[in-house]
Amino acid sequence: MNRRIETTCVQGGYTPGNGEPRQIPIIQSTTFKYGSSADMGKLFDLEASGYFYSRLQNPTCDNVAAKICEMEGGTAAMLTSSGQAASFFSIFNIANVGDHVVCSSAIYGGTFNLFSVTMKKMGIDFTFISPDCSDEELEAAFRPNTKAVFGETIANPALTVLDIERFANAAHAHGVPLIIDNTFATPINCRPFEWGADIVTHATTKYMDGHGGTVGGCIVDSGKFDWTRYPDKFPGLCTPDDSYHGITYTERFGIEGAYITKATAQLMRDFGCCQSPMSAYMINLGLESLHVRMARHCENGLAVAKFLKNHPKISWVIYPSLEGDKNYELAQKYMPGGTCGVVSFGVKGGRAAAEEFMGRLKVAAIETHVADARTCCLHPANATHRQLSDAELEAAGVAPDLVRYSCGIESAEDLIADIEQALDF
Ligand SMILES: *Cc1c(COP(=O)(O)O)cnc(C)c1O
Repeated sequence: MNRRIETTCVQGGYTPGNGEPRQIPIIQSTTFKYGSSADMGKLFDLEASGYFYSRLQNPTCDNVAAKICEMEGGTAAMLTSSGQAASFFSIFNIANVGDHVVCSSAIYGGTFNLFSVTMKKMGIDFTFISPDCSDEELEAAFRPNTKAVFGETIANPALTVLDIERFANAAHAHGVPLIIDNTFATPINCRPFEWGADIVTHATTKYMDGHGGTVGGCIVDSGKFDWTRYPDKFPGLCTPDDSYHGITYTERFGIEGAYITKATAQLMRDFGCCQSPMSAYMINLGLESLHVRMARHCENGLAVAKFLKNHPKISWVIYPSLEGDKNYELAQKYMPGGTCGVVSFGVKGGRAAAEEFMGRLKVAAIETHVADARTCCLHPANATHRQLSDAELEAAGVAPDLVRYSCGIESAEDLIADIEQALDF
């Protein structure tokens, strides 16, 4: 049955039989028992499906991954220990030493570090381009060894909206997939696969968990990218894996399952950044109310953005759902029902005024976090983006005076009153 996403949020990923638990069972077990070594051997050869060790797969985590997979409209998904692990796996699953990736410059600071410093040390080169770049600049970013294009639906914290269709077309013209970090929009507001994206990643830490309780990540495959058309570009998926009994992932699992099976059988096996069953259960509790919470996050975001827009002490406001915003048209195209609860703005007086204002807030708390039920705020130039030079800050769309204010699901009136008193200095 093709159910609506609200129903999937509540009931997806797990269907109990008679007398079975209504809630997803927490299978807190590292291992699983078998009657014979021959039975277990089939699992290791990926000839039979079943659980044997929770570093690779666990039923609780698989239930939750299946729910997120259905929400995004994908064919396969896996949980990871964090959003960072999801971003890393999403690229490393198809790019090796000597390869190259085209990436939007407006991305999360942690992802920028991972790509530009750590993965560069592993021999993978990234070209960062502005999401507003011209077609010529986008075209010029590709190289013969390019293996993927990466961007965020709504950039954290610049709040730039990526023109997914345009980036997908460019990626496909060069025979590579578009990978989208859909953390801020969530599948409630945008389903990137409907616009041509091939792989979606999430920091479930943010809106999906939504209660500041559990760090986690997820990767979803649309199952649409045909790796077998480019066997030379993607040998890891199209030729035998010596480390996994000579299996060729695309042959054995089709284009619907090859990418996630490889990431599980190879990367999760070797790197081990797996989600714990207990944490997966917690993430699922968040998913059950995601559609209800996102509506309130967006409602509060718009109310706060409108208030700030008219305040004399505010120098600028970025909120993609606010009429007149630089990203308003793109936001209306990709997320007509709302974008997210995060509003970025500058306080007149620059860095010092931003710090003063934040210190005076009583309802909103200063936290290295975002997308939580509780309103929180951060000065990225002093925190998440501290390692970036002024030029890199500018490329990432992060002004030195930028305050990232993440509206929770409290009363919008209380948030606005709090901001109003905090600006009174
Ligand atoms: C937080 C975040 C990440 C990283 O997620 P962690 O769970 O903190 O590792 C990646 N992408 C975006 C857009 C984020 O906001």
